[in-house]
Amino acid sequence: MARTGPQTQTGKIRLLGRNRAALEQFAAGRGQPPYRGRQLARWIYARGACDFASMTDLPALWRAQLDEEAEVGRATVARTQRSRDGTAKLLLELQDGQRVETVLLPYEDRTSVCISTQVGCPVGCTFCATATMGLIRNLDAGEIVEQVLAGREHAPSRSGPSVTHVVVMGMGEPLLNYEPLVAAVRLLHDEMGLSYRHLTVSTAGYIPGILQLAEEGLPITLALSLHAPDDALRAELIPMARRYPVQELMDAMQEYTRKTSRRVSLEYLLLADVNDTEPHARALARLLRGTITHVNLIPWNPVASFSQFQAPSSARVRRFRQVLERAGIAVTQRAERGQDIDAACGQLVIKEGVRREAPPIPINTLAGSHV
Ligand code: SAH
Ligand code: SF4
Repeated sequence: MARTGPQTQTGKIRLLGRNRAALEQFAAGRGQPPYRGRQLARWIYARGACDFASMTDLPALWRAQLDEEAEVGRATVARTQRSRDGTAKLLLELQDGQRVETVLLPYEDRTSVCISTQVGCPVGCTFCATATMGLIRNLDAGEIVEQVLAGREHAPSRSGPSVTHVVVMGMGEPLLNYEPLVAAVRLLHDEMGLSYRHLTVSTAGYIPGILQLAEEGLPITLALSLHAPDDALRAELIPMARRYPVQELMDAMQEYTRKTSRRVSLEYLLLADVNDTEPHARALARLLRGTITHVNLIPWNPVASFSQFQAPSSARVRRFRQVLERAGIAVTQRAERGQDIDAACGQLVIKEGVRREAPPIPINTLAGSHV
């Protein structure tokens, strides 16, 4: 019998993460008509089935055979924390025991899930809790997608809006785990019915990844974490920025817009006295003059052990915003959600039980040492 993919730690073939064509091939390799593969896809992604027993329109005999050699391969939700504001943080335990966090954000009119793409992150931003983990490993496409499946299962009301938006702003730098990210984005669209326009990928500014994504023809939103108007300050905050100057990032963003017809939004994290002063705001306004960029201001969410940073005062945030608005730049401000359960942006870190069988991969050996 043809094997179409790697076996899991249970010795079974894992189906989660495969697209429809791969599942059709899997079915065909077992003497089944291709539509059986499409049924598998529907059960796994649209209906969120965790085992073959629940796939009631598959022949009982085939279900038993499937059970012998394969599995859906979902992670378990090891812990759920709910915030006062309705935000929920899910701790997913993956098949190898690694853990990753996913955040569910219910709003009046939509529900977002904030997903992770890596266990930890190799980029090492000085203000981000995830950075303290280093990179432990990349997630595969199935592990990225199943966070949305888990989010959907934990959405407050089945009758209310299910998951409508996905933001790739959890743990990890998505563009340093490129192929699984793109495979997951396609699965979210093709199999789970999410609109590309409701998918946002946030990057710390890995230019080769931005340019590659521009070529995919996926009309998803790209959010660039800029955080500083000049190279020197940016490199202090985001070590990777040493290799990717601000001006080249602006060019890469334009290229993304040209290829996808999607605007790139800029994220600007505000750290008290570091990058939140009026001169910083004016420098940012100058940098963006003539572009149609939209800026999302993110007041820093405190991370307890980072004594070198402080959240900006609301007066500073207001002033920063005014300077940009007066320069004709569209500005929004990120609503702070889930802070009481450390579920806000940049607060995700696995506090206990990080499994480090192998030492973390040194940053300069990753992705052709572009980091
Ligand atoms: N690695 C990607 C996506 C994950 S981080 C990136 O950096 O863009 C998502 C966003 O959270 C980024 O804009 C990041 O700079 C921001 N962030 C990190 N730490 C934060 C913190 N403590 N408070 C607020 N935002 C933070
Ligand atoms: Fe990684 Fe993004 Fe955190 Fe930087 S801000 S360490 S890129 S997750």
